[in-house]
Amino acid sequence: MNERIAPSLLECVAPATSQVIGHVKIASPDEVRSAVERARAAQRGWGALPVATRVERLLAFREKLLEARDELAEALTTECGKPRQEALVTEVAPLAALIGHYGIHAADVLAPRTIPLRLLKHRRSRVHYEPRGVIGIISPWNFPLLIPFGDAFTALFAGNAVVIKPSEHAPLIALKVKELWDASGHDPDLLQIVPGRGDTGQALIESGVQKIVFTGGVETGRRVAASCGRALVECVLELGGKAPALVCEDANLELAARAITFAGFLNAGQACISVERVLAHEAIHDRLVERIVHHAQRLRLGGPEGIWDVGPLIFPQQLETVERLVNDAIERGATVRCGGKRAERTGDFFEPTVLTGCEPDMPVVQEEIFGPVVPILRVRDDEHALQIANSLPLGLNAYVFSKNPDRAQRLAARLEVGSVVINDVVTDYGSPEVPFGGVKNSGYGRVHGTEALRAMSSVKHVSSDRMPAVSALWYPYGERSEETVRRLVGSLFSRRTLLGRVLDRL
Ligand code: NAD
Repeated sequence: MNERIAPSLLECVAPATSQVIGHVKIASPDEVRSAVERARAAQRGWGALPVATRVERLLAFREKLLEARDELAEALTTECGKPRQEALVTEVAPLAALIGHYGIHAADVLAPRTIPLRLLKHRRSRVHYEPRGVIGIISPWNFPLLIPFGDAFTALFAGNAVVIKPSEHAPLIALKVKELWDASGHDPDLLQIVPGRGDTGQALIESGVQKIVFTGGVETGRRVAASCGRALVECVLELGGKAPALVCEDANLELAARAITFAGFLNAGQACISVERVLAHEAIHDRLVERIVHHAQRLRLGGPEGIWDVGPLIFPQQLETVERLVNDAIERGATVRCGGKRAERTGDFFEPTVLTGCEPDMPVVQEEIFGPVVPILRVRDDEHALQIANSLPLGLNAYVFSKNPDRAQRLAARLEVGSVVINDVVTDYGSPEVPFGGVKNSGYGRVHGTEALRAMSSVKHVSSDRMPAVSALWYPYGERSEETVRRLVGSLFSRRTLLGRVLDRL
């Protein structure tokens, strides 16, 4: 960041060329508050529309996004250094798929549900999913299209307005989507962007929003959760990951090696679901390493011109973190099988790196690397692999490779994470149908799936009567009624009584 630029501006730098590509005005706390107020006003009309009308309008906007796919991919390439194909496959396509998924299912998922009551048969209970109001989204730089707009569209389908605080390291793509939104005839106030750094994120939390969806690092997540607690605003926290890939001795090794290479180096390793630890069974360890190294050595660093596989890291500090972790691992005895250092070229590039001889206590195995580095550990058996996999405070996702479906499922059941992908990689975040999120320090709440759409709604229960009647349980209390209640409580809820057993079956 250039120290001479005005404090009210963000300077945007292309990581592949280190060139300044733009400046963006930071939203002041007053501007954030006013954005939220305008969003609230716009939400009233939007939230009152039938779900089917919202669906029509959002599906129409998807066409605009798809028409602009080359422009969006180019913008992601310039701002983040991703290969264009990767920008299309991992950002534009899953966003379009998410809009399509909710387009098909939102009306059903958000339809009121009737809930039968076991005891109070004469009453009718309905649960309604109502819009919450304004949803604030605070997002990271690594998937600056898919993450904020995936959450934004989920919120919009549920009838909310949205205010996004994009990452200070990648605000341009959010502003590009906003241009498309405004040009498509939608109410501009329904979807707004407030660029800025952490203090702008804080201002958003304190601006009267009804919910925050935060994606970012664990330490920032703690601060966000504390601020949401003070403001009594519900939040979803999508935090860091350190995905282990457990490779059993019966795995398809070529599939495992190619999958690990893809998920280890995708987005230059800057994904919360990147393979960050390979736990290879000792019987296949050497053959697996040879295959991963073979594939990693063929990856081409590059950008922004031509075709390449692995781009730069987002900014110089990220490069320093990766370098520190790799050098530390080498000092502690790890072996560099390929890469291992900065690339000799302009931009923030690190060579695709495979490390063997890694041990569970090395920082490279414990901390999020967020770079193109795959540390490999040798394990004795499944128990050993599980023990290492579950030993960290992070629990976002994990991968298992085995040809035995029962064994893979047993391992999945014991992994302390929010999702497990067997014999494949990254399809968990990429599938809008399934809930995604972490356990332990990886956060709480879920994005995607039925769960996230309903969680963007305020749940209201309405209980109505079939036959209004004075309840025998109302006042006055008396000795006889107390005795009747005493007997009923003992029999109604017990499996030892006929009444209790009948009630259990209702
Ligand atoms: P970060 O925590 O530094 O920043 C995330 C966002 O929070 C940014 O927009 C930032 O401006 C904002 N922010 C910073 N301080 C804030 C504060 N005090 N209050 C409110 N907002 C604040 O994260 P990052 O470096 O942008 O992203 C990388 C991290 O994100 C990694 O740890 C990665 O694992 C995680 N991530 C998680 C997921 C997931 O789905 N679980 C997905 C992608 C990235």
